[in-house]
Amino acid sequence: MLPSTYSSMKNILLYTVLMLLLPLHLAGQRKSKSAEPLNVIILIGDGMGAAQLSVPYYYGEGDPVFTKFKNIGMVLTSSARHKVTDSAAGASAMFTGSKTYNNAIGVDNDTIYRKNLVEILSDDRDYMTGLVTTSSVTDATPAGFYAHVSERTMHYDIAKELLSSEIDFFAGGGLQYFISTDGTDYFKKNNIEMYNSELSRIKKPEAGKRYGFLMAMDGLPAMLDGRGDYLPKASGIALDYLSKSEQGFILMIEGAQIDWAGHSNNTDYLLTEMLDFEEAVQVAYNFAKKDKNTLLIVTADHETGGFTLGASGESLYGEDYATIVPSFATRSHSATLVPLLAYGPGSDSFRGILANTDIFSRILDAIKKH
Ligand code: MG
Ligand code: ZN
Repeated sequence: MLPSTYSSMKNILLYTVLMLLLPLHLAGQRKSKSAEPLNVIILIGDGMGAAQLSVPYYYGEGDPVFTKFKNIGMVLTSSARHKVTDSAAGASAMFTGSKTYNNAIGVDNDTIYRKNLVEILSDDRDYMTGLVTTSSVTDATPAGFYAHVSERTMHYDIAKELLSSEIDFFAGGGLQYFISTDGTDYFKKNNIEMYNSELSRIKKPEAGKRYGFLMAMDGLPAMLDGRGDYLPKASGIALDYLSKSEQGFILMIEGAQIDWAGHSNNTDYLLTEMLDFEEAVQVAYNFAKKDKNTLLIVTADHETGGFTLGASGESLYGEDYATIVPSFATRSHSATLVPLLAYGPGSDSFRGILANTDIFSRILDAIKKH
C-alpha cells in the first residue's frame, strides 16, 4: 500500500483503526462466551465428615474422584441456637444464607421466610432447578433447598411447597406425602410428569413441563438392600435434562443415607453409602469437566456418628497399624468441621475455613462475577 493521495491516507487510517479495534472485538467475543449463565451442582453427603470422605481411599477401587478437586475448604456447621446442627438448619444455612434453629426449613432464627437459591436463581435469572436424593424429597436436606416451614416434620406442607415450587426436576422417595384423599392428581395439576417405577432419560422435554421421579413411599432402600445405581443414574438423568436448556441451572444431589448409617453406627451401611455417593460425585465431575461452565461443590451439612478409621488394638503394645477398625463415638451428629471440595469457574473462593452460610453467598458471588 503506497499512500500518495488523500483518499488512500484515509484508507490507511481506517485500516489502522480497524486493526486497533480487532483485539477488542475478539475480547468481546470471549466475554460473551463466558457470559453464559454459570451452572451450579452442589452435592451434599449428609453426615459426611473427613473420615467418611476417606472411605473411598481405603475401601474403594482406583483413585477416588475427590483427588481431582484442587480447591478445598472446611465448613463450620453450628446452627443459630446449637453447637451441633441438624440437617434442617444445615440445609437452610447453605441454601438461604441464614443461620437458624435446629428443625427449621427455609426460615431464619425468628421463623421469618428467607429466599433460597432456587427462588433467587429462577426468579431473577431464569435458571432451571433440580434435586436428587436417596431420602424422601420432603426430608430436611431437599426441603431446605426449596421449602419454608417452621418444623421439618411438616412433610405434607413441604410436599405442597414442592408442587408449587420452581423445582423443574426431582428424584427421590416420599410418594406417601403426595397422595390425595379426594382423587386429585396433584402432579397433573401442577404440570409434573410423574414416574414411579423406574428411572429413564427424558428424551424430549416439553417447554413448561416439570419432571418427577418418586421411587418409594418414604426413603429409598439402602445400598445394602439393593438400591443399585439409583443415585449416580438419577444424577446423570437430571444433568442430561437440565443441561438441554439454554438457561443456567442449579442441581442439588444428596447422599442422604451416609447420615442414617452414622446414626445406626453401622459400618457396612456407611461404607456402601459413601462409595455410592462417590459415584454420584464422579458423574457430576465428568459433566463439569466437559461443560467447563459449571461450578461443582461437594460438602456436608454436618458429621454423623463421630465416625473414625482407627488402627486395630487398644494398648500401646497391642496396636496393629496395618488394620483399620472403623468405629463410632456417638449415635448422633457431631460438631466437627466437614470437608468442602470445589471445582470449576469460581471454585477458588471456596478455600479456607467457611461458615455454612458462606456457601450461599459465594455461590451467588461466583454467578455474579462469571
Ligand atoms: Mg438429609
Ligand atoms: Zn442425621
